[in-house]
Amino acid sequence: MSQKLIYLDNSATTPVLPEVADEMDRVLRNCFGNPSSMHHLGMDSSKVIKEARQTVAKTLKCRESEIIFTSCGTEADNLAIIGAATRASRAGKHVITSDIEHPAVLESMKALETCGFEVTYLPVNNDAVIDVEELKAAIRPDTVLVSLMYVNNEVGSVMPVAEAGRAIKSANPNTLFHVDAVQAYTKMPLRPQSMGIDLLSASGHKIHASKGVGFLYASDKVKFNTLMLGGGQQSGRRSGTENVPGIAGMALAADKAFSSMEEDVARMYALKSYFIGELLKLDGVYINGRYGRDSAPHIISASFEGIRSQVLLNALDAKGICVSSGSACSANHPGISRTLKSMGVKSALLDSTIRFSMSALTTKEELDYTIEVLNDTLPVLRRFTRK
Ligand code: PLP
Repeated sequence: MSQKLIYLDNSATTPVLPEVADEMDRVLRNCFGNPSSMHHLGMDSSKVIKEARQTVAKTLKCRESEIIFTSCGTEADNLAIIGAATRASRAGKHVITSDIEHPAVLESMKALETCGFEVTYLPVNNDAVIDVEELKAAIRPDTVLVSLMYVNNEVGSVMPVAEAGRAIKSANPNTLFHVDAVQAYTKMPLRPQSMGIDLLSASGHKIHASKGVGFLYASDKVKFNTLMLGGGQQSGRRSGTENVPGIAGMALAADKAFSSMEEDVARMYALKSYFIGELLKLDGVYINGRYGRDSAPHIISASFEGIRSQVLLNALDAKGICVSSGSACSANHPGISRTLKSMGVKSALLDSTIRFSMSALTTKEELDYTIEVLNDTLPVLRRFTRK
């Protein structure tokens, strides 16, 4: 009998939708021309990119010229933060972020520090959310950029980005606001213009498209230094031959996600609430952060008293259930999660935490099976854990 496969690691990456894979295959085979070439094959590829740009722009109700395709969310974060802050550096060298950002943001901040920038790291409360009043108080005349994640990848907390946008613009209208929306795009309401967002990053592989593609929304009003120097593609803002099949696939995945977003998100919230209810019936299980409609619909962080994350992860994997300990995207650096620590999770639980992350494809049956396996496995693992 074949082993079940329950995929609950969608915040690390999502399975590519069959129709997205088909579209990528079609583009890969038929539109192989370089989009910068002047012949008909080049024009075919350039048309694919133009249409994809229109589709993505529609999802954010922004202009086509405001979408820059990148190789991933990390590149979009780097371009927004380093590109915009260094460009604005004559106006000031102060930037603000939070304590619990993804390494793509934190490492960009470190790079700015080496160029003489001062970075303010805002603390978060027990729910992994910043205080907007604290943000407002931190903004100075020389603050050129604020970068905040919309949804935290480890615990699914939601930052008050619309409120933050208003606070930033009222404290200093020249301060740019970047939002890392990699975990939020297709899950949370996003209107850059009305939310005071100048720059926004997203990633294809988190929305059922492929790896190797992402995008940066950059308001037409924002000036930034480019990081990829070369042939001047994408109006000189991001050189490099475009990943045409990846871009086509990401646009299709975004279009599909937006067409059923309301139902998908409602279903994920219902499943999340059900799953947490079942988790809390088990002994020694704690949920980190908020878990109602004020959290992201797809991420659940749970601590299992007395069991090491990696041990539980392996036990679940042996039963066909894929989850992650802490954040998979920083799993190359196993260690204690900065997010969990910053939000004040008890030290005994820091290395006992598992992230379950769903997608629109997750079913109640999959969650029921996971609970069944946890119910059988937790007492066994606890029996073998040295006190
Ligand atoms: N930002 C957040 C919040 C993420 O969760 C991730 C990846 O998990 C990234 C940025 C990086 O995206 P990518 O894997 O596309 O580089």
